[in-house]
Amino acid sequence: MLAAERPAPRLTRLAAWLKGDEESAPVAAAAAAATAPAPGGGIAEFRRAADRETIARIAQFLCDHDLTPTEDNLLFARRYVVGDDRRLGEAVDARVRDGQRITASFLDGLANGSGADRLRPEALAEFADMLNASLAEGFRTISRSCDSARDYGVALGNEALNVAADPQAAIERLVALTAAAVERTQDLAERLDATRRETGRLRSRLQAARRAAEEDHLTGLPNRRSFDARLHARPAEADKPARCVALCDIDDFKRINDQHGHDTGDRVLKLVARHLKLALGSDVLVARHGGEEFACLFEGHTLHAARHALDGAREALGERRFVDQSTGVCIGRITFSAGIAPVEAEPREAMRTADAALYAAKRAGKDRVMVVAGQPSG
Ligand code: GH3
Ligand code: MG
Ligand code: MG
Repeated sequence: MLAAERPAPRLTRLAAWLKGDEESAPVAAAAAAATAPAPGGGIAEFRRAADRETIARIAQFLCDHDLTPTEDNLLFARRYVVGDDRRLGEAVDARVRDGQRITASFLDGLANGSGADRLRPEALAEFADMLNASLAEGFRTISRSCDSARDYGVALGNEALNVAADPQAAIERLVALTAAAVERTQDLAERLDATRRETGRLRSRLQAARRAAEEDHLTGLPNRRSFDARLHARPAEADKPARCVALCDIDDFKRINDQHGHDTGDRVLKLVARHLKLALGSDVLVARHGGEEFACLFEGHTLHAARHALDGAREALGERRFVDQSTGVCIGRITFSAGIAPVEAEPREAMRTADAALYAAKRAGKDRVMVVAGQPSG
């Protein structure tokens, strides 16, 4: 195994293999067997794109961190060495400073992004640009492929005119033309395949980034942005179902943080999120609206039905008693208050009304669901 060899020969062999200098059977076979390298198309693409100095530094990076030269690791190493990804560079340097190892899963984590970074609109725009560039490269390859096929057709036609004059020479030229065309086609097929894989990779990263941008990373619920988008998406007038919104706020949550610590507070947030989602069912959208507040969108529910469902969820939570598992200390009951309102012409107005009802529920003593006075409840 390469990992068990002394660094110097390993580095030399890895660098040679990356450069494509030594394709001799023993070296290529040893590298392939020991390192499960990137598939042929990927390494060919990589060799085309990187100069020798860069390749030597990439080989050094892979050896230093004992990383297998898979396609992804090569890509990371190149980005690190070239320095065109500031976030990657800083994360790797910080980890090395901390004396921790650079592992494939650490690099994967960086690729998928984490927390707030994944939410950056620039990250989405960057992925979209990369995807566009990759598609454009694919179209260029297809266009070159068409040109090449047309040139080959024209050359064949020209040679056909010469067959009668000197058949032997014409056949030799036809064979040479065909061999060149086959080589060009193989090269283009390889490029197209690399582009297809790159596009697939970027597309799944783009989807992951888009999902992350709509999700609250603590509770896994949709976030406020995603809730607002759904609330403002108006259903067609004809089959417009009754809709209601509710705002729920955990009671005395600050006390839970103060008495049991922020981590326990986070666990309580996750617990209430899970409880609301399970208790209200899949046809109610439950989102984290911010802090210790959750928003619910009831579609196809009258105000009366929505209020009944939410009150059931509130009661079920209030019947349970909780213990802080990290300390064994009793937390006791966890309750929430809620305000609920029908969505009529203006969704923003419904949110304001639900907020006013929530405020009324807090003032009335908490642990209750309220509708603002004067509103019909059915
Ligand atoms: P009330 O019953 O009137 O709603 O009182 P409360 O203590 O629940 O409300 P208050 O607004 O006084 O405090 C809310 C606290 O929630 C303050 C804030 O630090 C905490 N908080 C907000 N977001 C998070 C979070 O993501 N995790 C944790 N652990 N605490 C959070
Ligand atoms: Mg609050
Ligand atoms: Mg609260």
